Amino acid sequence: MVSVIVVGAGLLGSSVAYHLAGPDVEVTVLDAGRPGGGTSGASFAWVNAQEKSPAGYFALNAAGVAAYPGLAASLGGDWYHPVGDITISLGPAMTKLQERVDRHADLGYPARTLDRAGLAALEPGLDLGPEELLAAHWEAEAWIDPPVLIGRLLAAARAAGARVLSRASVVELEVHGGHVRHVRLASGDRLSADIVLIAAGESSEGIARRAGVTLPMSPTPGLLAISEPLATGVTRIVHAADVALRPDGAGRLMISSREIDATLDPSVREMAPDADPCRELLARAARIVPDLRSARIEAARVGIRSVPADGMPAAGFAPVIENAYFLVAHSGVSLTPVLGRLVAAELLGDRQPELEPYRLSRFVAGASG
Ligand SMILES: Cc1cc2nc3c(=O)[nH]c(=O)nc-3n(C[C@H](O)[C@H](O)[C@H](O)COP(=O)(O)OP(=O)(O)OC[C@H]3O[C@@H](n4cnc5c(N)ncnc54)[C@H](O)[C@@H]3O)c2cc1C
Repeated sequence: MVSVIVVGAGLLGSSVAYHLAGPDVEVTVLDAGRPGGGTSGASFAWVNAQEKSPAGYFALNAAGVAAYPGLAASLGGDWYHPVGDITISLGPAMTKLQERVDRHADLGYPARTLDRAGLAALEPGLDLGPEELLAAHWEAEAWIDPPVLIGRLLAAARAAGARVLSRASVVELEVHGGHVRHVRLASGDRLSADIVLIAAGESSEGIARRAGVTLPMSPTPGLLAISEPLATGVTRIVHAADVALRPDGAGRLMISSREIDATLDPSVREMAPDADPCRELLARAARIVPDLRSARIEAARVGIRSVPADGMPAAGFAPVIENAYFLVAHSGVSLTPVLGRLVAAELLGDRQPELEPYRLSRFVAGASG
């Protein structure tokens, strides 16, 4: 019997716990707050591999996209929405979009172009004005409800014997002789296990630092504006030049924009639905969705992108601690099924070649993976 403590019940920690739990593995999941209350609960949650590079990282994300239908079938529930993504380009951007579709088709990633009539047939709720346009339909892509998926993953892990503790904040990994002997909680309790997985999102850097592990991160805020319920016909994920939107259940649309995110104060953690950035998101989305023109934003969420400093995932045992494994990734939604499976295998001693590029040793001069 192997025992594993998972620190963090976001998508990544929950997926690993799900893949690990069973008769031979004793799994304890700890979350400082409630499962799904971190970045996973404030995500655009688009399952995709578009424009991911280098090739190995694209392949990892594409494997995540491809694994979702199987995960949805295994877990049940209605958290998986395989509606596809539509990317719209106008004028000079059309050539680049055509190239992008061709490049992905060569990689075996399903995509096809649509003209105005084809787009109107798929999404009659969009109004793109008279300008010439080209759209791409990425049929294998999807969006998910992360907290609902986390609930299903943890329920399945519990059914296989895992324990899940909320409001169990880890304050220190007690390391002696290059080994985590105990995990100390804010309550003062100390737990021990053969292996400790740290999947604590943006907090992972601090947990690592206190244990003497180098895991540099560049967390950045992202804003999601959610409309009031609408009788809208928009059914897919839609990316236009300066805004992205998708259904968010019960007629609501979720709106985001990387351009607006770049203007946010890095320290922002919440926002009122009528704040200027939310108004700007609504104005941009309303230019292409007439149903939004008389609507208001009902809720705003600020999520923190938990990104290692070089933008790539971090997945591996700490170079200086033999039984502490760190797992942090942006695109954590797209990667949830595949990272959960691969990391669970590594924790049980089966090293996975797909994860070699993401070892923590890359942050330490002279260290090997
Ligand atoms: C605005 C926005 C849009 C995004 N859009 C996409 C997208 O479209 N597609 C995509 O693939 N990805 C997207 N992402 C990224 C994706 O959401 C994240 O990569 C993913 O949710 C990270 O999951 P996680 O489990 O690593 O972290 P989290 O969900 O943050 O989970 C970490 C958990 O650890 C817990 N924790 C923290 N510290 C401690 C501690 N000391 N002790 C115990 N528990 C602790 C927290 O409470 C939390 O529940 C987006 C992110 C943002 C912010």
